[in-house]
Amino acid sequence: MKKPVRSRKLFEQARQILPGGVDSPVRAFQSVGGIPLFIKRASGATIEDVDGNRFIDYVMSWGPLIHGHAPSGLVKAIAKAARLGTSFGAPSPLEHQLGEQVRALVPSMERVRFVSSGTEAAMSAARLARAFTGRDKIVKFAGCYHGHADSFLVKAGSGATTLGVPTSPGVARAVADTLLARYNDLAAVEALCNAHSGAVAAVIVEPIAGNMGVVAPAEGFLAGLRTLTERRGILLIFDEVISGFRASAGGAQSIFGVTPDLTCLGKIIGGGLPVGAYGGRADLMDMVAPAGPVYQAGTLSGNPLAMTAGLWALKRLTPRLYKDLAHRGSMLAAGFADAARHAGVNLQVNAFGSMVTPFFTSSPVRDYDTALNANTGAYATFFRGMLSRGIYPPPSQFEAWFLSAAHTERHITQTIAAARASMKEVARQI
Ligand SMILES: *Cc1c(COP(=O)(O)O)cnc(C)c1O
Repeated sequence: MKKPVRSRKLFEQARQILPGGVDSPVRAFQSVGGIPLFIKRASGATIEDVDGNRFIDYVMSWGPLIHGHAPSGLVKAIAKAARLGTSFGAPSPLEHQLGEQVRALVPSMERVRFVSSGTEAAMSAARLARAFTGRDKIVKFAGCYHGHADSFLVKAGSGATTLGVPTSPGVARAVADTLLARYNDLAAVEALCNAHSGAVAAVIVEPIAGNMGVVAPAEGFLAGLRTLTERRGILLIFDEVISGFRASAGGAQSIFGVTPDLTCLGKIIGGGLPVGAYGGRADLMDMVAPAGPVYQAGTLSGNPLAMTAGLWALKRLTPRLYKDLAHRGSMLAAGFADAARHAGVNLQVNAFGSMVTPFFTSSPVRDYDTALNANTGAYATFFRGMLSRGIYPPPSQFEAWFLSAAHTERHITQTIAAARASMKEVARQI
């Protein structure tokens, strides 16, 4: 790997104008050390930095790029759409076309509202839940991330955990109505709902957690949430911003056969452009303005370039794609485990289809507390070892590695070889 001379210079310039030099905290590499690499271009499974280093990318823009970087058909579709106008601030047919596509894949989303980020989707779903139920409290799970709206910034996972500020200052009032439960612990949710009987508007959950690293739902967890919320008139919100179109074309809800009242989407739904969406039962969604009184709006919502990219991406979610992704995901997971065993390093590999997290710990990871057992110093060493060998992992222990259609078996084999060498460096350090 060439020295990141240009990246270093650009980072210095960026820090003079952007807080921390970035527009989203985890990009700054703080928990793995070194400086963030500035990216010049990307194609397929590879990214290239401004110093000319090329990497097999496992960040994939943090999940959206299930078809790889800049597939040529997508680029053409966006260019064609741009020639017709980049934003109208008026309806275009693309919006209900993408809406119909979303509903065809996720039938519980009888009505869909497009926004521009996952944050907006989750924030708006919570507002709607409070309006519909006339209650204030929201149950969330430690280690789940639902974007950075105030009421969700408590034990928030993702970058918040990486930076050691899982609960942000500046949100004190909003989080007073947020009740925290342990992931995969149905009894904890039940106890909370009993203690705050009649006050809980919604339970929001990542049905497959991806923001404390990958943590799958325990047997019966999601179905149990459905039963206990239904009984109490509490809405169940699935935040499928990662799992939607990633775990399967129908999201986690189709895999586990559990139907939420509301679903939040983001990431893949925009094909690499900024799109989020929330939707669900028609009687709920018809409370959203202008159909109903719950206000929510967006100047660039339903943007024609973003809708075009989303349509392109969703039309290509074939069973074959998921089969290939799952195969390569398990190849990578097995490769990590094997590399660790070889080097004598304690590792737990959590994987779900094309999402994989190697946790540097000897005990199974099934919730936030057990995720926090992981040795972040070991991860940082692993990260730097991989980077030096042409692999670009997520710059944090508490994230998923994402595969795409562009990741071939050769890429995976190369990655496993790099992991074997990097694990030896971890073993020497611990
Ligand atoms: C990424 C993410 C969000 C936030 O989406 P943004 O587009 O970054 O605002 C919300 N929920 C989950 C589960 C996510 O992974």
